[in-house]
Amino acid sequence: MYKTFYIKDVLQCREGSEVELIGWVRSKRRHGKLIFIDLRDSTGVMQVAVKQGIADESSFVKALEVGLESAIKVRGVVKRDPRAPEGVELHCNRLEILSESLDDFPIRKGVGLKFLLDNRHLHLRSPKVTTIMKIRANLMDIARRWLKENGFIEVNCPTFITAAVEGGATLFKVDYFGRVAYLTQSVQFYQEAAIYSLEKVYSLQPSFRAELSRTRRHLTEFWHLEVEMAYAELNDIMKVIEELIYAIVNGLSRESEKELRDLGRVVKPEIAEPPYPKIRYSEALDILQQKGVNISWGDDFGADEERILSKEFEKPFFVTHYPRETKAFYHMPDPGNPSVCLNADLLAPGGYGEIVGGGQRIHDYNLLVERIKENGLNVEDYKWYVDLRRYGSVPHSGFGLGIERMLWWLLQLPHIRSACLFPRTPTRVYP
Ligand code: ATP
Ligand code: MG
Repeated sequence: MYKTFYIKDVLQCREGSEVELIGWVRSKRRHGKLIFIDLRDSTGVMQVAVKQGIADESSFVKALEVGLESAIKVRGVVKRDPRAPEGVELHCNRLEILSESLDDFPIRKGVGLKFLLDNRHLHLRSPKVTTIMKIRANLMDIARRWLKENGFIEVNCPTFITAAVEGGATLFKVDYFGRVAYLTQSVQFYQEAAIYSLEKVYSLQPSFRAELSRTRRHLTEFWHLEVEMAYAELNDIMKVIEELIYAIVNGLSRESEKELRDLGRVVKPEIAEPPYPKIRYSEALDILQQKGVNISWGDDFGADEERILSKEFEKPFFVTHYPRETKAFYHMPDPGNPSVCLNADLLAPGGYGEIVGGGQRIHDYNLLVERIKENGLNVEDYKWYVDLRRYGSVPHSGFGLGIERMLWWLLQLPHIRSACLFPRTPTRVYP
């Protein structure tokens, strides 16, 4: 059994064409001798009219009895009808049940959020989730294309690691044949090793963070697009970030226009057109203090601060030069003012906050060793990473972009978990 037609193809067919469709029964309505079935496949939903007398008798009975989400095959004639959801209807003359639903489909209007999350394996069939997953796939594809066109080479890095990248507090510990290993928070260090041969690299793979802070924007497992580039300083990497974000937004506005419209979102490329505003941490602090936030120099911005700050902007904007104590040890201190580092976070406007974190890395051997010690870490744990600074070390910079964060902002989702097929949060590892 293979599919000859998808719903999207049938929508393009001439009136009167005879076609066969395979899909799932999304909903059903009966008006006397006429049964309407909304048939769903990966490409859309199509109204199928099963009329007694036109469809053979056994097909009409099957249409009457078939349960929601059963898999069916229908054969019929394409008719234009402005009353049908897509303006096209299939007048069925034969209906075959391929696989009957054994029970009533549990996902119904009015069920609560917890129920939907507990039954995510079934909720995935909803048009909304389907649409979000298509946009997500397209987002990744556009990002990959842009990176390739701009000379970045994809690398795949390990997930088991032995020392923290972003600080020990959010590491997941795993038993590695009796030794302690962790799940990676970022593949940055491996990419830093790779730039000495490949110069411009990226990877797209999961990162893990034991983030107990239950915000709308934190997952414990997320897909991380990370980029690292040799011979790049802070300004160079900010330019790459801007151009990549613009390419994604511009690309989605065209290639996912229908899906965005189905979600009720209008995404115009202008919302992400470079150049982006750039403010320093100190300026961001002033804004927050003026807004009455109780925060002082040296405090990191959390989700609340970023929400307040980002409501002041209409485009994505960079916040740079954070106090060095707020950032991980590998960030390059500003030579003009070593109390801050040459980092850049990109915040999405309208209350969303950080979607990209990046900056320039320390390439000097002694400085790196000093910063590791200053952070109370053991230089021995970072031996291979420090070793990279012994042989032809060059200035380099990079960043990480959270795929789900980007979708959360662009689709204005109420919670980041809606951007995942099966979200992982502190309270959820099932299904
Ligand atoms: P936050 O302050 O929001 O926790 P972070 O500073 O820890 O973010 P980075 O370490 O800079 O984030 O990671 C790079 C990017 O990865 C972030 O800008 C964000 O897009 C994404 N990211 C980080 N942590 C998470 C998470 N727990 N869930 C989803 N995405 C995340
Ligand atoms: Mg974090």
